[in-house]
Amino acid sequence: MVRLITQNLLSCPSRACAYPTNFPLSFRNVEKLEMVDAEFNEEFMRGVLSRIEWQALRKSAAELGNTDLPEQGPDIAQPEAVSLDLLKTLHHVLLEIVVADGEMVCPQCEHIYRIKDSIPNMLLAEHEIRK
Ligand SMILES: [Zn+2]
Repeated sequence: MVRLITQNLLSCPSRACAYPTNFPLSFRNVEKLEMVDAEFNEEFMRGVLSRIEWQALRKSAAELGNTDLPEQGPDIAQPEAVSLDLLKTLHHVLLEIVVADGEMVCPQCEHIYRIKDSIPNMLLAEHEIRK
């Protein structure tokens, strides 16, 4: 399943590309989005805060039509101080929006990774694979 919690950790694996310019993969031609219900787990959400690249997540969420995340990310040095409201918003964005059909495009090499039936095809041609 392609959810933002996964996409926020993905950078283009091509050997032509390097972090940070190969991140985040942009959503394009998204033809099918699904909303799923995921159980809210406050402890998990506080734990995940430090692993999120906030501005990349905001950008990707906006590409999927969700503009609920505030511009200013939470203070990850104080995860216990982050409001429940923000955690719930983040929970929805990270875990409940599923891209079922569409494309993810590398911002550097523009390789297109297709998503079909919720499964991303991250395969590259042989010459593109980082050795
Ligand atoms: Zn790339």
